[in-house]
Amino acid sequence: MHADAPRRLLLTPGPLTTSDPTRAVLDRDWGSRDTDFIELTTRLRLRLTAIAGGTGTHETVLLPGSGTFAVEAALQSLVPRDGLVLLLVNGAYGRRMAEMLRRIGRLHVVREWAEDEQVDAGELDRMLMADASITDVAVVHCETTSGLLNPIEAVAAVVNRHGRRMLVDAMSSFGALPIDASAMHLTAVMASSNKGLEGVPGVGFVVVDSAHLAGCAGNSTSLSLDLYDQAEGFRRNGQWRFTPPVQVAAALDAALDQFDAEGGVAARGARYRRLHAMLVDGMRTLGFETYLSPELQAPIIVTFKDPGPPFEFEPFYDALQRAGIVIYPGKLTRAPSFRIGCIGAITEDDMRRALTVIGQHCRQ
Ligand SMILES: *Cc1c(COP(=O)(O)O)cnc(C)c1O
Repeated sequence: MHADAPRRLLLTPGPLTTSDPTRAVLDRDWGSRDTDFIELTTRLRLRLTAIAGGTGTHETVLLPGSGTFAVEAALQSLVPRDGLVLLLVNGAYGRRMAEMLRRIGRLHVVREWAEDEQVDAGELDRMLMADASITDVAVVHCETTSGLLNPIEAVAAVVNRHGRRMLVDAMSSFGALPIDASAMHLTAVMASSNKGLEGVPGVGFVVVDSAHLAGCAGNSTSLSLDLYDQAEGFRRNGQWRFTPPVQVAAALDAALDQFDAEGGVAARGARYRRLHAMLVDGMRTLGFETYLSPELQAPIIVTFKDPGPPFEFEPFYDALQRAGIVIYPGKLTRAPSFRIGCIGAITEDDMRRALTVIGQHCRQ
């Protein structure tokens, strides 16, 4: 790429645009047993626990891999082998959890809503009332399939009232939308380095209720995804059990410095909301319609309906790609659509640039 070519903008569900200071940290080697790397690991775990509102009750277990690894590790390690998981599903990431449980061989039931409907806490209440054998409820916070925000506070209130456990896939919302693992009595919050935290991809993590984790020895049928064993390892010597993604961890620590400097969850969420408003307004002006109604929409990623001819997604995608802007095809099971993200290390000028390129293409 030419030195003064415009920065690549990844307006996707991830990986996302990262800042120069975050990528600069990759330019160093670390030994996994170096004192400063062990300190970095401990610091990361404490910082992530704090962002989840879990300080004092929860602890963070880091894993190499993408976010899916963290979700699978949480289901493996935290659901007892004789547990029964109720999955509240309204998109591909919820369905992926069902596929994991099927493969692990854990009992589960799926309650599915349409992709443009929130999961319903009232229906959940009736289901938990009717079935005392359900031990765990799992839900996705922002269903990145569509961009929909699920009402996890209401879900947590019902789950707590019935005395069950709750696991939240907060992958795309973590760091951007508030979550309070202590107050909501969450058993687990799963997320990764490369979405709202704006690190590079390669670390997944689970913020786990420490009291529950203490009883999870032997749940996992997988060696490398065992959160209990990894938590024990961190306690014993501060180290990752297997080769840590050292540069990725260091870049996440640097990304968290920038996160703090920006003003934490409130400020990051506010920037994403501004970018989201610009994106939706700009696209509406060009005649595009959003798939979701505004009250269901999280300020993370927006699904736009494919308007049909003369619009065609492939040439649209290619034109943006040539201008250094990456968007995403739709992931809905029914409606033809495409998605544009509004998270990552991007500014309002970046979003304006993207909208200008989109406008130029659409006017051709
Ligand atoms: C991105 C994402 C994941 C995990 O995806 P990876 O590609 O494995 O990082 C899981 N759930 C949600 C809601 C996501 O947005």
